[in-house]
Amino acid sequence: MVKQYLLFDLDRTLWDFDGNAERTYCAMFDEFELEKYCHVDFHTFHNKYRIINDALWDAYRNGTLCKELLAIQRFSLTLAAFGCNAESSEIIRLSRKMSDYYIINSTHQRSLMPGTQELLQWLKLRHDRFVLAVITNGFSETQMPKMKTAGLYQYFDFFFLSEDLGFMKPDRRFFDVAMQRMGVTPEQCLVIGDDYKVDVEGAKGVGIQQVWYNPKTLALPAGCLPPTYEIRHLMELKELLATEEREM
Ligand SMILES: [Mg+2]
Repeated sequence: MVKQYLLFDLDRTLWDFDGNAERTYCAMFDEFELEKYCHVDFHTFHNKYRIINDALWDAYRNGTLCKELLAIQRFSLTLAAFGCNAESSEIIRLSRKMSDYYIINSTHQRSLMPGTQELLQWLKLRHDRFVLAVITNGFSETQMPKMKTAGLYQYFDFFFLSEDLGFMKPDRRFFDVAMQRMGVTPEQCLVIGDDYKVDVEGAKGVGIQQVWYNPKTLALPAGCLPPTYEIRHLMELKELLATEEREM
């Protein structure tokens, strides 16, 4: 039987990034007594942080910001948005401590997206048919510990981390190197991910079929072609693959 290679994004596709991150930031807000610096509550702080972090991640993906600055500036710029001086040595030191705290503590979180365990267990029973890989842009020092803590590691045959590959999704070279290392063609692969621009367009660019995991029912970005498949829940992927199995 020809094996199918399933390439899963990690954050917000299998690992509950938003829930896990929010719990970590909430604990960090108390630990570092950030209310004293910002004079706002956690939710106001966190909402601002998310906007700043997303913008900095775009810059990191585009290659205009290095990882070290991203790690610090997401905190120093958030503190600055609430009146702190981002250039002061105290705020830079505090931001560095926050960055270390987040990197260590977020990896202890284990909340998964609904259906993750069930889907992976179902796939594991079909190991003769499916090969599983993780494709992620996250930092190397967090992604592997996260997968181990959350019990995901055991299910996967391949791990493709952007920092190891030297390219980030949606760069086609990320997918090319991953396929090269697995010794497969695009026709043998299926990419599953929550981020249209990063996962779906990246896969489209190299001729891999895509499953857009879209639990929040977001609209298709303007001017973009629909993905091969779109699902709201991971169990729909199981149905999709089970249907293919019956038709074979
Ligand atoms: Mg994602």
